[in-house]
Amino acid sequence: MRLYNTLTRKIEEIKPAREGEVGIYSCGPTVYWNQHIGHMYAYVQWDILVRYLRSKGFKVKRVMNITDVGHMTSDEDAGEDKMEKGAKREGLTVWQIAQKYIDQFMQSMDLLNITKPDVLCRATEHIPEQIELIKKIESNGFTYKTSTGLVFDTSKFAGYADFAKLNLNKQDSGSRVEVDPDKKNPWDFLLWVTNQPNHIMKWESPWGVGFPGWHIECTAMSVKYLGETFDIHTGGKEHIPVHHTNEIAQGFGAIGHQTANYWIHNEWLTLKGEKMSKSLGNVYTASDLEKKGYDPLALRYLILTSHYRQGINFSFESLDSAQVALNNLRELVLAAKFDKGRPTLSAEKREKVDGFISEFDEALGNDLNVSKGLAVLWKALKSNIPSEDKYDLAISFDEVLGLRLNELNSKVQDTPEEITKLVNKREEYRNNHDFENADKMREEIEKLGFVLEDLPTGVKVKPKK
Ligand SMILES: [Zn+2]
Repeated sequence: MRLYNTLTRKIEEIKPAREGEVGIYSCGPTVYWNQHIGHMYAYVQWDILVRYLRSKGFKVKRVMNITDVGHMTSDEDAGEDKMEKGAKREGLTVWQIAQKYIDQFMQSMDLLNITKPDVLCRATEHIPEQIELIKKIESNGFTYKTSTGLVFDTSKFAGYADFAKLNLNKQDSGSRVEVDPDKKNPWDFLLWVTNQPNHIMKWESPWGVGFPGWHIECTAMSVKYLGETFDIHTGGKEHIPVHHTNEIAQGFGAIGHQTANYWIHNEWLTLKGEKMSKSLGNVYTASDLEKKGYDPLALRYLILTSHYRQGINFSFESLDSAQVALNNLRELVLAAKFDKGRPTLSAEKREKVDGFISEFDEALGNDLNVSKGLAVLWKALKSNIPSEDKYDLAISFDEVLGLRLNELNSKVQDTPEEITKLVNKREEYRNNHDFENADKMREEIEKLGFVLEDLPTGVKVKPKK
């Protein structure tokens, strides 16, 4: 499989550090508010990545963090801890806020059929690991103390600017300068915060009572669960200049090298060209869409029509189209499912089936081109290969696409055998252009309480309402 690696700015072949296994770390949600569909965009895309690698036989270990402490209202250490802000807003404790929004996140994952990570780890449950890592960074000489806490000295890491191609001379770091006047460089960032005595979540540490900076949790937990070198690290493109740049610096400071061989970043889901955000008031959650009468899987379908590095401009018109397309797709899959009898594949059709399989595989393997994979599914369903082969292909592609096509059922399944026999007889007559007898069959079927619908893909049987 090939993916675009931000580290090298190239599409590269993924070569796992351990043969047959792939370790993936994904920056997860900060659980102080709802995870909206802008957030869920990335999680659907990474779900496709995990599913695809598993379909290729890789043993994937997927780790995702839950940020429940230390993420300030700005990514650059400024402002208030988002968790405490959320707690004040809702009159709950920080711990209740965390639980409330973890639940909301898990519910959105379910609605969008996103596979659960193998490890879902909370920052507050890994304080000792973070302290241990900071101690290593400190003993390697990468830190200094200020009145705000313990700071990472970015000037000690010569490659600090490389990952994000930052221009450190420009000092266009905005709020970074105001955050802590004692910082030697505006880029330096907090590893441990000690100057907030009123912060509710706090722990003892060698640097005083306080709490970890936002970035250290990801380095500590990825190393704990995936080792000092692992394969893939995912995140939104906004993480490149600060969060991931700092993770790379922390890896270097603690263990002498950064941790992930492939850093993969997604573009955003936007609404009218703007990033979805609470401050703009343009926020929808997966369950909001459900309340509006949409199937959440229509959003998943819509996301599948985009490439993770292109993002998508969300609109309700496009969601409507996705809903229609998904419904049509389901019709085709159902028609294939209930079309009985598998004729022997001719060599020509066998070749077609194999062609669809390799085209799908090639699309996904080529930097996760899932929209092309979806197009291959459509092409297969509309082709002249036998229905059962169509159905088999749909179910196998759907292990990657995750549209729950294997759960589809229609009333057809409950059709009594007697009716099925009549339907098949009618098909025989129709194939022989004996429409008179075919119509008689239809009448008989209707007398027995069933109606027929002739679709381009075959005939559908439904009980009369
Ligand atoms: Zn992270």
